[in-house]
Amino acid sequence: MSVQYHESVTAPARRDWRMAVRHGLRGRCPHCGEGRLFRGFLKPVEACAACGEPLHHQRADDLPPYVVITIVGHIIVGGLLLAEKYADWSMGLHMAIWPTLTVVLSLLLMQPVKGGVIGLQWAMRMHGFGGVPNTPERQPLPPAVQPS
Ligand SMILES: [Zn+2]
Repeated sequence: MSVQYHESVTAPARRDWRMAVRHGLRGRCPHCGEGRLFRGFLKPVEACAACGEPLHHQRADDLPPYVVITIVGHIIVGGLLLAEKYADWSMGLHMAIWPTLTVVLSLLLMQPVKGGVIGLQWAMRMHGFGGVPNTPERQPLPPAVQPS
């Protein structure tokens, strides 16, 4: 008698990362899409109020600002170059528009981008979202004690 193992028995169910990112971009729980993802501007909730999915595992860290900088940078630099080429704006108008647009776009995009990153982490089962506690990085060994 032989025992057969099937990958589907041991492997966790796949999560739809597109749906999870979409829910995160809307500021909703990546699992159910109903509960709120944030309790503050950038502070995620501990767990979803609607489905109970724990969300404290998230480790978005610096990725959302990098993504926002990339998006806003392309918009601002592209717009600035187009304005320089096709419009005859004064330096004062440039100084009024571009810094203001940079700050406004960055503030508008930061929360949705962070939500999308958390949704992606949830879908990829990163940082404890897969049911396994997040293991800490290896710590260096303590210095060896020299006998005196
Ligand atoms: Zn939920």
